[in-house]
Amino acid sequence: ATPTSIMAGSGRAAQAGILFKQSAILERTQAVDTIVFDKTGTLTEGKPKLTDFVRVGEALPQAELAQLIAAVEKQSEHPLAQAIVAGLEDYQQESTPTVKVSAFNAHQGKGVSATVSSGEQEKQLVIGNLRLMQEQTITVDDAAQQGFSRLQQEGKTVMAIAVKGELQAYVAVADTLRESARPALQALRQRGLKLIMLTGDNSRTANAIAKQLGLDEAIAEVLPEDKAEHVKKLQQQGHNVAMVGDGVNDAPALAVADIGIAMGTGTDVAIETADIALMRADLNSLVQAIRMSELTLKNIR
Ligand code: ADP
Ligand code: MG
Repeated sequence: ATPTSIMAGSGRAAQAGILFKQSAILERTQAVDTIVFDKTGTLTEGKPKLTDFVRVGEALPQAELAQLIAAVEKQSEHPLAQAIVAGLEDYQQESTPTVKVSAFNAHQGKGVSATVSSGEQEKQLVIGNLRLMQEQTITVDDAAQQGFSRLQQEGKTVMAIAVKGELQAYVAVADTLRESARPALQALRQRGLKLIMLTGDNSRTANAIAKQLGLDEAIAEVLPEDKAEHVKKLQQQGHNVAMVGDGVNDAPALAVADIGIAMGTGTDVAIETADIALMRADLNSLVQAIRMSELTLKNIR
């Protein structure tokens, strides 16, 4: 490989907003046969919005319930939490007594729980996916399960809300697919690449999105710490894997992958760990990166 042709390749790439950390990466990208994508913030814009707030219990008035949920989610840094807090503002009444939140607990990849108190009343709130409900022995009846599935089939993320151990409501949050996702993935597939999505979200939501995008596979309900394991498994099967992600919890998987690719809009940790950074947060530049790597090698040979 002549250094000059590689340099020329990375210079062109930089102009297109594609940063190869080392020139050798441009060469190595050629060998990739599988691309693993994180969902939220990578295939989607990562700006989820509340779309549904469905009550299934009568234990407390809607406005109060909305206030309690928002109070708990304010303690969470998760993008889902921010969407819930913003979306529930519409349901709250203005002059309500303040709520105190204690014993806040973030259950990684599952949800949150806390004790809320307004006045002398103390209530335990659990907000999260069905796995968390199961762990906390909260019953989700058939009707609620059906409501859940319906929203998940629309590609929405659904979270249940239990107060004092009983299901009271569920909320759905939707994130917009990046405009570039569908055309970029189609182009990658045409190049014969195997395309896989990894997500902490449930499988129904994951499959709905995988279908919209034409992904080969969606691996759902992956706990943050297990993302890297999935990449390793693919490598053990003989695949040369590129991982594309944006979050702090993607960093270990980006490091393990043969090529780690970070969205330029992502967290600093992801960008620092990656071999390639896509500064335009446009998935078409991923296609361009792969094309450039091929062209560069052709010029060398
Ligand atoms: P992702 O990889 O999609 O960002 P996470 O692994 O962070 O997902 O979370 C997985 C699931 O845990 C979410 O789909 C949601 O059901 C639940 N969850 C995570 N954080 C919260 C939260 N703050 N409130 C409610 N549910 C949450
Ligand atoms: Mg993400």
